[in-house]
Amino acid sequence: MKPSSPITQDLLTIPRTLPPGPINLIGMSRTIMHEKLLEIGTPEKQVKMRVGQIWQWIYQKGARNFSQMTNLSKQYRELLSNNLTIDVPQVVSKQSSKDGTRKYLLKLAGGHEVEAVYIPEEGRGTLCISSQVGCTLTCSFCHTGTQKLVRNLTCGEIVGQILVARDDLDEWTNLNSANDKTRLLSNVVLMGMGEPLYNFENVRDALKIVMDPEGICLSRKRITLSTSGVVPEISRTADEIGCLLAVSFHGTTDEIRDKLVPINKKWNIETLITALKDYPRLSNSERITFEYVMIKDVNDSELDALRLVKLISGIPAKINLIPFNEWPGSAYKRSEWSQIKKFSDIIHRAGYASPVRTPRGEDIMAACGQLKSETERQRKSKKEISMEAGI
Ligand code: SAH
Ligand code: SF4
Repeated sequence: MKPSSPITQDLLTIPRTLPPGPINLIGMSRTIMHEKLLEIGTPEKQVKMRVGQIWQWIYQKGARNFSQMTNLSKQYRELLSNNLTIDVPQVVSKQSSKDGTRKYLLKLAGGHEVEAVYIPEEGRGTLCISSQVGCTLTCSFCHTGTQKLVRNLTCGEIVGQILVARDDLDEWTNLNSANDKTRLLSNVVLMGMGEPLYNFENVRDALKIVMDPEGICLSRKRITLSTSGVVPEISRTADEIGCLLAVSFHGTTDEIRDKLVPINKKWNIETLITALKDYPRLSNSERITFEYVMIKDVNDSELDALRLVKLISGIPAKINLIPFNEWPGSAYKRSEWSQIKKFSDIIHRAGYASPVRTPRGEDIMAACGQLKSETERQRKSKKEISMEAGI
């Protein structure tokens, strides 16, 4: 492991210049929007109604400029556009996989880039969003972890990913906000680039907007946040967000997990399991998902499966087996399918659901762990990646 490989929140700062001038409404809470509208001269008696109207235009109807807000007077729309903006990330490129998966490369303020992936499934569609540009953690099997430049996404940039995907799916017209089942974008997972619990406040505030009943209106049970194990923030996730939790487990001994998920050196398996047992929202209907990437000859033995079952005993859980997705320069190989089957059978026999996650969008490098912005300026060398993988 390189001495500089951070397992803490230290962000490697990259210059971030926000354009001066009008303030973006996307990502603002209702309270702040209220203040801003007052500040720009909205009459006090009207301001509550105006917040409601603007909120609906943006989050229910997909308005991208004030001129679309036809129930506001022309004069008021002018006042708004002189002081405020409605900015979403810019779609630099979109790739579509033969399986229907769509990957968006998005440009943010300061020119930084992240990716979001839309995965259509029978009767639902999941958008996988990013919470950071890159990631400060350096999981040895993850492409994002090889990206050196990192910054947190703002609340507006997190919400903005959902808005642009919905634009692309043309899902604003005929949207029945009360009925998740008919939606193309019905679920959101924080499994893109970055560690969401190292950007807790922005992620929380963004998800509040995503769940707002008068806006995007996704149920908290249709949002899953995946963490590599930032133990101190785990119970806050239940208390302050209330969404479902997934944990990137990947190793059944500290020795293996230290190599795969280096944050384990800070919060080891025992500490993590204790935090999960105490997870305030734990129940059979709200089980924790244990993500387990299947890497050939590293963590895929039958003994690993048995240890995993023992470790999680007593926790309402499902185990999501993810065949390792290779990326250029990766140090590992995907487990054999026969081995994945053996592993999954052991877990299944112990009474847990153990779906194997079918890799989606592999042809466009959109599968789990393959995300990495194309234009990042510094790359880790193959040697550095191998050193971190401990091989
Ligand atoms: N940082 C968070 C969320 C993003 S990663 C976390 O680690 O949980 C989303 C999931 O993809 C995690 O379970 C991660 O371990 C997994 N993943 C990363 N690289 C992968 C790869 N190359 N193949 C398969 N899964 C991978
Ligand atoms: Fe970061 Fe998650 Fe990748 Fe680890 S697996 S490097 S925590 S994005």
